[in-house]
Amino acid sequence: MTDLIAELEALRARDLPTHGGRTLAYVYDSGLPDADEIGRRALAMFASTNGLDPTAFPSLAAMERDLIATAKPLVGAPDGAVGTVTSGGTESILLAVQTARDAARRERPSMVVPTTAHGAFHKAAHYFGVRVVAIDVDPVSKRAVPEAMAAAIDEDTVLVAVSAPSYAHGVVDPVAPIAAAAAERGVRCHVDACIGGWVLPWLDHEPWGLDVAGVTSLSVDLHKYAYTPKGVSLLLHRDPALRRPQFFASADWPGYTMLNATMQSTKSGGPLAAAWAVVRHIGTDGYRALVGTTVDATRRIAAAVAAHPHLRLAAEPDTTLVAVETDTALDVFTLSDEMLVRGWFTQPQMGFRDLAPTLHLTVSAATAADEFLADLDEAVAAAVAAGPVQVAPELRAAAAQLDPSTLDDAAFDGLLAAAGLSGDGLPTRMAPVNALLDAAPPRLREALLIAFLDRLTR
Ligand SMILES: *Cc1c(COP(=O)(O)O)cnc(C)c1O
Repeated sequence: MTDLIAELEALRARDLPTHGGRTLAYVYDSGLPDADEIGRRALAMFASTNGLDPTAFPSLAAMERDLIATAKPLVGAPDGAVGTVTSGGTESILLAVQTARDAARRERPSMVVPTTAHGAFHKAAHYFGVRVVAIDVDPVSKRAVPEAMAAAIDEDTVLVAVSAPSYAHGVVDPVAPIAAAAAERGVRCHVDACIGGWVLPWLDHEPWGLDVAGVTSLSVDLHKYAYTPKGVSLLLHRDPALRRPQFFASADWPGYTMLNATMQSTKSGGPLAAAWAVVRHIGTDGYRALVGTTVDATRRIAAAVAAHPHLRLAAEPDTTLVAVETDTALDVFTLSDEMLVRGWFTQPQMGFRDLAPTLHLTVSAATAADEFLADLDEAVAAAVAAGPVQVAPELRAAAAQLDPSTLDDAAFDGLLAAAGLSGDGLPTRMAPVNALLDAAPPRLREALLIAFLDRLTR
C-alpha cells in the first residue's frame, strides 16, 4: 500500500501546486489548513455514498437543502427560490440552458449572451441544439451592453445570460437593465456567478443576483471561492416552476425508475458533504475575512499593473480576477512562461474579435501580492528582453486560410508537430505554441486542440 501512495505522490509532484497561492487559475487556496482538513475528511467519509436516490441516502438530501438555504440570502434569492447541487459550473450552466430551452419550446431556440460569456454556454448550445447569439461587449469596460443585448432578443430567444463577473476580464455585467429587457419579452435571464457568487456577497456592489427583477436563475461554484474540494456548484431558480423542466424521470425500461435532478445519475456524495462541512467551518464571518484579504491583494496587484510602463489592466477588477494586457514590447505568452520559471502559474488568454490577448490572474486568499509583484517585474523585464514571439507572416496567412473541416488525421499530425504539440509532454516554453494558436482563427484553434487532446489520450 505504501508503494502505491509513493507512486501517487510521484505523479502529483509533476502537477501544479494546489496550495501556496502561486497557481493563479484552476485552484483556490483559503490558506486555512483546518478548512482543508475537514473537507478532506468529509470527502472520504461520503466517497461511496450515492446521490442517485435521495431516499436511500437522506443525509445527502439534508446537506443539499442546508447548502441551498445558506446560499439563498447571499445571492439575493427570494424565499420561494429553490436550488440544486451540481458537479460544477459547467453542469449548472448546462442545466440552466436545457431547462430554459425545454420550458420555451421554440422550434429554433437561441440564447443571447455577451462575447465574454463562459465557454460553458457554447458547450450547452452544442449539446442542446441552441444557437448562440454572442453580442460584443463594450470595448473599454468589457461589460455587456444592455441596449445591444436587448435588441438581440427575438422570438427564438429562450435565455439571456450575463456574468457576475466574467472569467476573462473580471467585470460584472449590468445585470438589472439586461434582466429587465429579458423579462419584458418573457425570456429567462441567467446570472453566471460561478466565480463571483461567493465573493460579491461580502463586497459593496450594486445588486447582481436573484434580488434583481427579471433574473430567473443563477449559478455559483462552491469549489471556487467557497474553497471546497472540487465537484460542487449550486444552480438556483427563482421558483419551483422555473426549475421543473430541469428534472428528469424515465420509466421506459424494466429497471428502477430513473429520477434525476442533474445530468449525473450515480454521483458521489463526497463533494457535497465536503462542501457542507467547509462552508459551515469557514462560516459567513470567515468568508468576509477571506474576501477582505483577497480583494486587498487583488487591488494591490491591479494598481501595480496599472502603473507599470509595459502593462495595463484590460478592465478595473470588480472582484478577485485580474486581466493584464501588455504593450508591444512583449506578449502575454512569453510573460506567462517567465512567470512559470519564477514559480507562478498565470493563464494566458487569447485574443477574440477586438479583445486583446490577456494574462488572467485568479487571486486567492493565499496569494502573496508583494512576492507576486516582485516576480512580475522581473518577468516583464525578461519578456521585454526576449521580445514578443514572431509568428512568420506566411504561417499566419496559411493559418487564416486553413479550413479545419477539410483536414485529415495526417494533416493534423503535421500541424501539431509544426506547432510544437507532438510527442509526449508539453514543451517547457509554451509561448511559441500559444502565439501560433492565437494567430489561428477560433475554428482552427479548436480543431488543433481537439486533435492534441485526442493524441494525449490515446
Ligand atoms: C469556472 C467558471 C465556469 C465553469 O465552471 P467549471 O466549474 O469549471 O465547470 C463558468 N462560468 C464562470 C464565470 C466561471 O468562472
